[in-house]
Amino acid sequence: MAGKVYLVGAGPGAADLITLRGADVLRRAGIVFFDALVHADTLALAVDAEKIAVGKRCGRHSTAQRFINKRLIDAAASHAVVVRLKGGDPMLFGRAHEELQALQEAGIEVEIVPGVTAALAASAAVQVSLTRRGVARSVTFVTPRTAAGEPQHDWAGAIAAADTGVIYMGAGEAEEITRALIAAGVPASTPVLVVENASLPAEEQTRLTLGDLPGFAAGRHAGPVLIMLGRVYGDAYAAAKAGARAALG
Ligand code: SAH
Repeated sequence: MAGKVYLVGAGPGAADLITLRGADVLRRAGIVFFDALVHADTLALAVDAEKIAVGKRCGRHSTAQRFINKRLIDAAASHAVVVRLKGGDPMLFGRAHEELQALQEAGIEVEIVPGVTAALAASAAVQVSLTRRGVARSVTFVTPRTAAGEPQHDWAGAIAAADTGVIYMGAGEAEEITRALIAAGVPASTPVLVVENASLPAEEQTRLTLGDLPGFAAGRHAGPVLIMLGRVYGDAYAAAKAGARAALG
């Protein structure tokens, strides 16, 4: 049998933020390989499928990735519909390129179903647009995380050059992130919004400034975290401060 492999975006967390197309593919799936961040209710859409967790841990990416590639190829030999279910959108910090390449080299048909990426879910949650006329015309999505052996990348310079920045996979590295951004010329007074568990019941939003980020982030965060920064968050920050002052009387 020559099955088809679907790389499906599960969305940011909430189970009803998957696309109709993604849900339909899951219903037809014979086997699903899913990431650690995928919601149990999303997985439950795959009523007839064998479900296999392939969540990766930091720092052990490359071996695990080769193994996942091989399992996808093998699965296509025995299942008509194979799903690789990924958090958010598969095409953003999702290693889709490696899987796509391995599948194409093996002559397997692939289709990609987009999903709502975390930055968009977090923006919806905080109700602050990533862009704003006259204030923010450019947005950059970065991750400071690099795998062993990967060349250095100037992610901090990319944030400094954009109006609004969104940092993926930055939890636990707040000190390094702050240091790198300030060295790249981002002022310590830049407004920051930290959103944890966007779209989920455990969602938490914190408004602060870049200079305060290391102190805030130390020793917390069990869920996935996005760090968002730029002038668009300034008003929100001011409003929160005013609210806090009012609450203090
Ligand atoms: N492909 C995914 C990103 C995978 S990288 C996407 O498009 O969203 C994993 C990182 O995404 C996490 O470290 C965190 O920075 C971010 N993330 C994923 N889900 C999130 C959520 N619900 N809330 C906040 N950040 C999230």
